[in-house]
Amino acid sequence: MDFEVIIVGAGSMGMAAGYYLAKKGKRVLLLDSHNPPHTEGSHHGETRIIRHAYGEGESYVEMALRAQELWNELQELSPEEIFIKTGVLNVAAPHSTFIQNVIRSAHKYSLNVEQLSAEEITRRWDGVTVPEGFIGCYERDSGVLMSEFCISAYKTQALKHGAIFKPYSPVTSISIYENHVQVNTETEIFTGETLLVTPGAGARKLLPLVGLELPLQEVRKTFSWFDTDEEIYHSDIFPAFAFELPDETYYGFPSINGAGVKIGRHDGGQPRDMDKPNPEFGSYEQDSADVSRFAERYLHKVGEHKLGKVCTYTNTPDEDFIIDRHPKYDHVVIACGFSGHGFKFSSVVGEILSELVTGNHQTTFDIRPFAIQRFSK
Ligand SMILES: Cc1cc2nc3c(=O)[nH]c(=O)nc-3n(C[C@H](O)[C@H](O)[C@H](O)COP(=O)(O)OP(=O)(O)OC[C@H]3O[C@@H](n4cnc5c(N)ncnc54)[C@H](O)[C@@H]3O)c2cc1C
Repeated sequence: MDFEVIIVGAGSMGMAAGYYLAKKGKRVLLLDSHNPPHTEGSHHGETRIIRHAYGEGESYVEMALRAQELWNELQELSPEEIFIKTGVLNVAAPHSTFIQNVIRSAHKYSLNVEQLSAEEITRRWDGVTVPEGFIGCYERDSGVLMSEFCISAYKTQALKHGAIFKPYSPVTSISIYENHVQVNTETEIFTGETLLVTPGAGARKLLPLVGLELPLQEVRKTFSWFDTDEEIYHSDIFPAFAFELPDETYYGFPSINGAGVKIGRHDGGQPRDMDKPNPEFGSYEQDSADVSRFAERYLHKVGEHKLGKVCTYTNTPDEDFIIDRHPKYDHVVIACGFSGHGFKFSSVVGEILSELVTGNHQTTFDIRPFAIQRFSK
């Protein structure tokens, strides 16, 4: 057998898994269509928010805390700054499920979260306005991950522990046998004892190769940078943020290394045709209109819109992840559908996948909420 583990898709999740497996001494092959980090998947645009008190549900908190520990460990090994503790400000109507989940998580796990009124927020940070009657939860110990540096750091460490990485190697077919798998690229054939499928936005096209169809929807997303007064919005003084407005949700980043404030809209976007290139930024009027309107109302001291980019979410119907063994084959593991909030977890997901792939039927975290089975109900 060529390898103990073959990983198809060496992006956020796959590269982290490759590292944890190689560190355990496994013979690992990482295959990717591109050369991660790159701009064709879901991990580019420099930054991703990590929050611990989790608006999407309390059940994510323990994983977020372990993810943070692993990021801190990776930071020790990385020459680049991969985590910046800017704090994160969540803003929403007091009774919204999102902010109530944040408050509940903070109490249950004794997280360092301050609840603030609209007036307290505007008094503390110049340059932000909050809708009347809304509240904020400021989490001091969370912040920003430099996503591309994170993947580079995992790549360096995986290679250091002996993993073999083949970029520009799109997987074209997969055969699953009782005790092994065979994976073909356009030019090579590999055999492995186990297979890990982590293809991000490539999942809907790739999963039929392992006999699966899952309800995934790829969505075109955009994000933008704005000219910024560094004395107001620099990452030393201004937090990352998420605003849940009545019909729209936005998130953003302070100015890091002079890049300017970055803003994206979390809801909305356009369903993607994965056989065509992602329509470039500016193809739709709302690409810059939405974030500019948000900036004008709530970050009124930012300047002009200066740059925009496109990216892709891969959404499941309930926006919870898919992390599971193949329903028919124990030696095939799938992780996809990270629904626009997966990056912060990629460290801990890598660790969980390394547990699953090495034959443990027990993972440190309960992954039942991420089961494939939930879609057959
Ligand atoms: C605009 C935007 C903002 C976001 N903001 C946040 C945030 O603030 N916080 C957060 O936690 N998350 C955020 N996310 C979500 C997060 O970035 C994703 O959930 C995460 O990157 C998904 O990881 P992945 O490994 O599934 O995909 P990727 O990192 O894209 O990796 C998949 C890899 O598989 C490869 N591949 C695909 N098909 C094949 C094939 N046939 N053969 C070989 N290789 C293949 C691809 O080339 C790619 O490298 C955001 C996402 C976007 C788009």
